[in-house]
Amino acid sequence: MAVLTVDNVSFSYVAGIPTLRNVSLAVHRGEFLTLVGPNGSGKSTLLKILDRIFLPDEGNIALDGTPLATFTRADIARKMAYVPQDREGVFPFTVEEIVLMGRAPHTAGMVFEGEGDREVARKMMGLTDIGHLASHPVTNLSGGERQRAFIARALAQQPEVLLLDEPTAHLDIAHQVDIFRLLRSLSVDTGLTVVSVTHDLNLAAMYSDRIAMLQCGTIAAAGTPSEVLTVDRIRDVFRAEVVVDLHPAATAPRVTVLR
Ligand code: ADP
Ligand code: MG
Repeated sequence: MAVLTVDNVSFSYVAGIPTLRNVSLAVHRGEFLTLVGPNGSGKSTLLKILDRIFLPDEGNIALDGTPLATFTRADIARKMAYVPQDREGVFPFTVEEIVLMGRAPHTAGMVFEGEGDREVARKMMGLTDIGHLASHPVTNLSGGERQRAFIARALAQQPEVLLLDEPTAHLDIAHQVDIFRLLRSLSVDTGLTVVSVTHDLNLAAMYSDRIAMLQCGTIAAAGTPSEVLTVDRIRDVFRAEVVVDLHPAATAPRVTVLR
């Protein structure tokens, strides 16, 4: 069953210049979907529309079969977490405080979070490998450590749907794989639905169930990694010459840039 349905959505920041055009997409429960596409193709905008930061000009979004427009902000936060791109830590909250903020939608009306909430926060800091930084101010972390703290906060929300915008952009190669493996195992083991933007076509191919490729605000292709990641489509959408073969250690396509 589709947990998120995007039906013919169009959106413009500036009248007459459409940023998204007639986007339709269904994301199934427990699915790991990645959004790929060139810079400016509308990936971040689509995630913001899914989290109802912006309302579409046309078309509809449904979450669990109910129009997103009818949810309260607190209802959305209990079902869906969003990790924006390049999250700057402005205030020197500690990592643990940031992660505990993820519990807020579940502690409505209570001033302090309980031991159960602290337990969830500890678990998510462990899963994202930031437990050792719990008492550090986020303003003192490296970009990658901060990114993992915000992923932990989103996980602490215990959402049904997790939206992530380039979650591995600042991560070293081991932590990139760790995050994708973690997202993959959460989707397989707990039924978490993951929608993540990434520029790494190979990580997308290895870990996601489906890839949707955006081009100038429209969906150029959506399907399994091997359906979407073809030489011709990558040339057409990214203007890049690549070779696509099989990953040597996985049943996934591998994209190598030629020139
Ligand atoms: P992507 O995440 O795929 O790189 P974005 O969704 O951020 O792309 O942007 C899509 C298009 O919308 C780009 O042309 C970008 O310049 C434009 N855009 C993004 N945010 C705004 C904004 N706040 N106001 C006006 N235009 C914007
Ligand atoms: Mg973006």
